[in-house]
Amino acid sequence: MRSLPDITPHLGQLLRFRRDLHAHPELRFEEHRTADKVAAYLQALGLEVHRGLGVTGVVATVRGKGRSAANPGPSLGLRADMDALPVAELNDFAHASRHPGCMHACGHDGHTTMLLGAATLLCQNRDFDGSVHLIFQPGEEGGAGAKLMMEQGLFELFPCDAVFALHNWPDLPAGQMAVRVGPIMASTLRFEIRVKGRGGHAAMPHATRDPIPVACAIVGQLQTLVSRRTDPLDSAVLTVGKIESGTVENIIPDEAGIYGTVRTLRTETQQLFIEGMQRISAHVAAAHECEAEFLLKPGYPNTCNHEREALFMAEVMREVVGAHNTHADVLPAMTSEDFGFMLEAVPGAYGWIGNGPADGGPGTSLHHPAYDFNDDNLGRGARFWDLLARRWLARAG
Ligand SMILES: [Zn+2]
Ligand SMILES: [Zn+2]
Repeated sequence: MRSLPDITPHLGQLLRFRRDLHAHPELRFEEHRTADKVAAYLQALGLEVHRGLGVTGVVATVRGKGRSAANPGPSLGLRADMDALPVAELNDFAHASRHPGCMHACGHDGHTTMLLGAATLLCQNRDFDGSVHLIFQPGEEGGAGAKLMMEQGLFELFPCDAVFALHNWPDLPAGQMAVRVGPIMASTLRFEIRVKGRGGHAAMPHATRDPIPVACAIVGQLQTLVSRRTDPLDSAVLTVGKIESGTVENIIPDEAGIYGTVRTLRTETQQLFIEGMQRISAHVAAAHECEAEFLLKPGYPNTCNHEREALFMAEVMREVVGAHNTHADVLPAMTSEDFGFMLEAVPGAYGWIGNGPADGGPGTSLHHPAYDFNDDNLGRGARFWDLLARRWLARAG
C-alpha cells in the first residue's frame, strides 16, 4: 500500500465543522441542518449523496479505482450518528449549544465529523479496490434510526459485506481505543405492569383489593430475576424507574402502574426476563386477588460484535494508537445502541474511542450537561476509519 493520505491539513476545517454542529444540535429525526451540512461537505468532495433514508439520513459512497455502482467490488459500511439530546447545556464555551434544551451530549457531532474526515482521506487516494459506504444516521437516541434506514432499504441500496461503527467513550482516556468479540452493549426492553385491584375507603381496606402493596411486592420480587435467575457470570439490570397510583391519602385506588427497563447482554437472558416478569406479576397479583396486565415495549437489541470483524477492528486500533493503548477485550457496558440492528443484518463490529482525560481518570459522562467531544479524536478517528477501510478492502479483495 502506498503512503496513506495525511489528515493534518484538514484538522482546522474538521474542528470548525464539529464545533458548528455542537453549537447547532438537533433532536432525533430533526437533523435537517446537520444533514444539509454533511451532504454539502460530501458533495464538495465530489461524492454523490443519497438523502432521506430514515427521514434525515445521508449516505455517500467512495469508490476505489475502476469501481462503479454496477461493479462495486467488496463493500463496507462505516456508520456515524447525527442526533443530539434533550439536555440543557451547562458549558459556556464559544461553541456551546445555541438551541435551548438541546445539546450534543453524546458526541454524535464528533462521530459525524470523524467520518467526514475519513471521507476526505478516502477521496484523496482511491488506491483501493472496492466501495466504502459512509452512513450518517438520524435518531440513534431512542429513535431506532438505524432500523428505520434499514426498513427503508439501506442495505438494498448500499449492500455492505461488513459494517463498523465507533462511539467516543469518556471512561477510556483519549488516545486509547477498545472493542470486544460478542456483546459490547446491552439490549433494552421497556415494560409496564398495571396492577388492577378494587378501590375504596382508606379506613375499610378489607372491602377493597388494594393494588399499592401488591405493586410494591411485585417491584421487590422482580429483582430476584437478577439475583436468583441470572447466571452470576452473565449480566442483567432491571430498574423500576416509576411507580404511579392513587390521588390522596384516604382513598385506596383501583390501579397501580409500574414502569421500568431491562438491560441484558444475551438474547436468552432477555427471554428469561420477559417470561419471569410476566409470571411474577401475574402470580403475585393473583395471590392478593388482584390482576396484573403486562405490557412490553421492545427497545434495541444488544450490540453484538462478530468475531472476525471485532478482531480485525482491534488490529486496526493497534496500528493507529499502539498495542498498549488498545483494549481488545474490554468489558461490555449496559447502555445500548441501535447499531445492534445493523449487526443483526450484516457482520461487523462496534468499538470505542477514548474521550476521557489523557492522564486517566473519568471524563465527563455521556448525556451529562457539561459533556463535550474531545477534538483530538477528529484526526485520530478519521485516520482510524481511513485505515480500517483500506485494510478491510485489501483483505476482502
Ligand atoms: Zn447517547
Ligand atoms: Zn451516542
